[in-house]
This record gives sequence, structure tokens and C-alpha cells, in this order.
Amino acid sequence: MTYKKSIADLEQSKQFLAGGVASTLRAAMQPTPLFAESGSGPYIRDVDGNEYIDYLLGYGPLILGHAHPSLIGALEAAARGGVAYGLQHAGEIELARTLCELLPCAERVALSGSGTEAVMLALRLARAHTNKRKVVRFHGHYHGWSDAIFTSFPSADMKLSSSLTAAQGPVVPGTGGQSASSLDDIILLPWNDPAALEQTLKEQHNEIAAVISEPIMCNSGCIRPKAGYLEQMRSLTRELGIVMILDEVITGFRLGLGGAHGHFGIDPDLVTVGKALGGGIAISAVAGSAEIMKLIETGAVSHLGTLNGSTAATAAALATIRELAADDGAAYIRMNRITNQLTTGIRELMKKHGLPGIVNREGPVFHMMFIEERKVESFEAFSKRDGVLYAKFAALMLEEGVLLRPNGLWYVSAIHSEQEARKTLLAADRAMGRLLA
Ligand code: PLP
Repeated sequence: MTYKKSIADLEQSKQFLAGGVASTLRAAMQPTPLFAESGSGPYIRDVDGNEYIDYLLGYGPLILGHAHPSLIGALEAAARGGVAYGLQHAGEIELARTLCELLPCAERVALSGSGTEAVMLALRLARAHTNKRKVVRFHGHYHGWSDAIFTSFPSADMKLSSSLTAAQGPVVPGTGGQSASSLDDIILLPWNDPAALEQTLKEQHNEIAAVISEPIMCNSGCIRPKAGYLEQMRSLTRELGIVMILDEVITGFRLGLGGAHGHFGIDPDLVTVGKALGGGIAISAVAGSAEIMKLIETGAVSHLGTLNGSTAATAAALATIRELAADDGAAYIRMNRITNQLTTGIRELMKKHGLPGIVNREGPVFHMMFIEERKVESFEAFSKRDGVLYAKFAALMLEEGVLLRPNGLWYVSAIHSEQEARKTLLAADRAMGRLLA
């Protein structure tokens, strides 16, 4: 397999596009950042003519795979009528109503363009609602790259971030150019640690506006909350007048139509959704209680964005949700079946090749890591994985025709089949065979 044209394109791109990639993460792919030509279903083709089974899926959004006919139809229809108006339209109402019906915590929603923006809005709402300023967030979670929340985020594929690798530590800006004072209001805690949460909230509740958490730590090891942990977070925040925000930018519409909070039966004040919501078109939402969301209606909180609620984005979201909801959610049953096949097969292959490792899985998203630990249930344990070995595995898989994110997180789409999963496992068998050679 050759990547000649991708390598040449990167050099050319760097003459004009800063860094040659449009998002810093993409620079980390080994042996080179790939240039794509087209995608179809679960497959993506690069400019050198190589075809891959795609588990990167655009870093998560492509839950219907590439170029799904329903998405194409919805986008064509939107384009014919005008992609954005800067005025209100029926698609916004339909999408907002659908989100209020599907997301258990949603009485009102607000639409934005990215997960980062949705988190910014959720934090602003929480501060305005409580008239307090501090925000509790957790090690290993990622909530977008805005100055207000982007702390150092240790990831095998995040080149520019400073490298905080311990599970405890100071709040360090995530990037050069970020004002250190932007994080003055952030309290960084270990996740899945009920005692740390209780102590901090009880001691500092007069200053804490919000606790923000991924419901499952998808960005660092796909780690589940301990039994009772999210419930404790809910009851403490409610008791102490703190807004509970679940960041469902990954889990929203991926775990099910009701997101992780529906799955776990938790009632947060606000959730953020993005990625899978638009099936690959930029759209995100904040959803939550009418009382808090009313701050937007009264004008107490500004929510802005030129392209918010564009006809293209709302049409894409509605088409994606329709596909996911069809036949009583058959897409989720299928994604779970394929993910099961993959994760079971990968665990067996790790044993066969004598490679100590773990696959943590929740619905159609899983994290595969090479690690000596028997369990990875904390960020501290996750930090012990061999990221270099995994990146080498991902590069070998590329040669085998399988596209993976270099940090270990796999996404499965509604269009992946048993056949792709079988091919993937055969490729993984060969790649693991060469890994230590
Ligand atoms: N929140 C979570 C949990 C995420 O995983 C991400 C992105 O990966 C974001 C927020 C930021 O979303 P976006 O990249 O759309 O700005």
C-alpha cells in the first residue's frame, strides 16, 4: 500500500493551509495524515486509491456511514430551497420538537454548530441561572476547545496539548495562546470518585455553578460510571443548587435515541448533543429544563450564531434521526450486534497473540488499548496504556485496509455489516501478528 499522493498533498496543503490539516488532531495519523477522495457506506477511499473500512467515521458523526441516500436526499431538498435563511423555518420547529420528544431531560432546546459551542452555551446558562462562577470538570474528559474549558487533555493523538499524564494535577491550559486566567473558575476532579465529588461540592457549593461530565468517559478509555455515581452527582447538585450538565456530544444519538441520560435513567438539568445528531453535517444542541433555557428567551443569556438552525443542518439532523428511529430502532440493534462481534473478536485475538489489552465498550463505541492492567475503570488506569504500541497497530491496520483513530477509540455505523466486521478481524489478526516483529 502506498500513500504517495497523500504525502505530496500534505506538502502542497502546508503552503496554504496552516499545518496542512483543518483540525490539529488530524495531524497525528501515522504514517501520514491521509487525504480522502470519497466515502461510500462503511468504506472510505484515499487519493492514492486505497480503500478502507472506516471506524474513524469523521471522529464520530457518521453514524449512517458515508453518503447515505436519506442524508443525500435531505440535503438536496434543502439546497434546492436555500441552505440558510437567517430567518426561522419549519425544519427548526420539527427538529426542536423531535429533540424534546426523544431526549428525556429536554423541555426546550437551542441549536448551534458544534459540540464546543453547545458546551459554551450550557456553561453560560448554568452561570446565569445560579449567579455563581465555578465549574467542576473531570480529568480525561473533553468538552471542546474553547478557552473556558480546554484544560490539558492527554491523548495519543492530540499533538499540541501539554502533556498532563497523571490523574491528579493542576488545571493547565490545553494550548498555547490560551489565557491561564480563563481556567480560574475550573475545578478539576478525578472522575468516578464519589468521595472527591461530595467533598468538593459540599465545601464549595456557594461558588459552584455547574458540574459538567461525559456520562461515559468516552474520550479516555470508554469508561462507565460506577454504579450510583451519576445518581450521586444528580442528588448532590440538586441539593446544593448546582446545575448538572451531561456532555453527550459523543453519546447523544449513539447510545440510543434518548442518549446516555435516557439509557441510565438520569435527569440532568442540561445536556449537550452534537456529532451523530447531524450524521456528518455541523449541528449541535443544548437541551434541558424550561426554567434554565428560559434565560435565552428573556435575553438574560445571549445565544448567537450566523448559521444556527440552517435548513441544511436541520434537514440532515431530521433525516439522521428518522433513519436511527426506523423499524423501532433496528439500527441500534444492528450496531450493537456488529460491535459485539468486533469487541469479542478483538479480545480473542489479543489473547491469541499474547498481547495484554482491554476493550471497553458501551453500545456502538469502544476503546481498544494495549495495557497490563486487568481492568480500566479510572483515568489513572487508562493513563498506563501503551499508546505508542496502539498507534503502531493502527498504522498496520491501515495497510490492511482498516481506518482507525490512532488513540484507540472505534466508532461503528448503522451501515457496517458482519462482512466488514469479519474482514476487520482477519486484518487485526495479521496486524497483531506483525506488531511485535
Ligand atoms: N464534548 C465531547 C464529549 C466531545 O467528545 C467533543 C468532541 O470530540 C466535544 C464536546 C467538542 O465537539 P466539537 O468537536 O463538535 O466542537
